[in-house]
Amino acid sequence: GRGAAMVTAVALRLAAQRRAVNEVLGPLRLTHADLEKVQALMRQEMERGLGKHTNATASVRMLPTYVSHTPNGTERGDFLALDLGGTNFRVLVVHVTEEGISMASEIYVIPAAIMRGTGEGLFDHIIDCIVDFQTKQNLMTQALPLGFTFSFPCQQVGLDKALLLTWTKGFTASGCVGQDVVQLLRDAAQRKQHSGLQVVALLNDTVGTMMSCGYDDPKCEIGLIVGTGTNACYMEEMRNVGTVEGDQGRMCINMEWGAFGDNGCLDHIFTHFDRVVDETTINPGKQRFEKLISGMYLGEIVRQILLVMTEKQLLFQGRPTSKLQTRNIFQTKFLSTIELNGLALRQIRTILNELELDASFEDSVLLREVCQAVSLRAAQLCAAGLAAVVEKMRENRGLDRLSVSVGVDGTLYKLHPCFSHNLQKTLKDLAPNCDVSFHLSEDGSGKGAALVAAVACRTASGGQ
Ligand code: BGC
Ligand code: MG
Repeated sequence: GRGAAMVTAVALRLAAQRRAVNEVLGPLRLTHADLEKVQALMRQEMERGLGKHTNATASVRMLPTYVSHTPNGTERGDFLALDLGGTNFRVLVVHVTEEGISMASEIYVIPAAIMRGTGEGLFDHIIDCIVDFQTKQNLMTQALPLGFTFSFPCQQVGLDKALLLTWTKGFTASGCVGQDVVQLLRDAAQRKQHSGLQVVALLNDTVGTMMSCGYDDPKCEIGLIVGTGTNACYMEEMRNVGTVEGDQGRMCINMEWGAFGDNGCLDHIFTHFDRVVDETTINPGKQRFEKLISGMYLGEIVRQILLVMTEKQLLFQGRPTSKLQTRNIFQTKFLSTIELNGLALRQIRTILNELELDASFEDSVLLREVCQAVSLRAAQLCAAGLAAVVEKMRENRGLDRLSVSVGVDGTLYKLHPCFSHNLQKTLKDLAPNCDVSFHLSEDGSGKGAALVAAVACRTASGGQ
């Protein structure tokens, strides 16, 4: 009768809608084979980055860090530390004693105008923050050795000399690319007549994270960041590092894997949404892997999908609001909230109301599916990168099985309810001969900067 016809009509409509949703989300769904291919490509780019003659054209730069050991527990001293390049800029004082590590820190805001102004303006601002911190902490009269966690790609010439290769993550301060970042800081100190600054080491945040976890766990030989940006470092055999003289021992390599794919090798996995997001950033064509994974971009990917789904009448009754058409309105922390189970459907509606969207129950469910697809892909790609790293380490050491720890930091990894689970599960699939455990780093950038500074001071005074 008529009732049955209506039921059939609804069922047909739902089936058509499902097909349309799958069509939109399909390109974001990666198979095991896709991920194995990404892993193989990462491995290939790693080799190219390490090779003396291929390094210049590799998308994964594999930068030497001049850190040759993880901590051994004998590090001691008081240090200043700077942490620039993540969600916050921080100044810290770190005490490394026999009893352990303690610290005090202060967060300072870097206004967008300073991030995108001149290099002089940026480094002057940093010195102002240091002075403010030293004054508050009563440290003005001591020249503590300083470790600078600077979370951008740098060509290091030594522990305290590092040329900025390019800015990432929304920074564009002029006059810095190609310059020695330590010197830029020293110059600013001189301009501000701050004579008590003793910069002894510059390091990437991945290295700081590995070092701080390495202080508690000698098996920690990998550092991973999944926050505003993404990157990894690990201990490589010197004999494989073609870009640095010498064959003995190991050196920590800052991979700069965020740039993986900048040479086109990942073009086959980029979706329409990824291309739109990339084109609207201030560094189009750059950091393509990072733009699939890290916190600065996931919200934008979701927003682009929502726009297309609305256009296709799959969401919000086909009516996008002007809020939804605003760039960066969909924050990545929304993804975390939306994917939390249980009561979240109500919270989803709260978020949608903030975007002036009148969401039905079905809209909320579909929105959650979109967020899941985007964050799952991010975790899987991150796992594919890490699988390439652990498999290489296992081969380097001629082992049937490798047991290794990863120190991890970053807001996305820490705050997202499923990211770390999806990452670890995929890594097991892709690198079954490696037992990998993950340790959250507590304040890795600060602790790590102090530990690298401690080693720098020890080496400078002749000990080892
Ligand atoms: C930078 C890396 C950094 C990562 C995580 C990337 O954009 O290029 O140097 O380690 O973000 O902060
Ligand atoms: Mg950070």
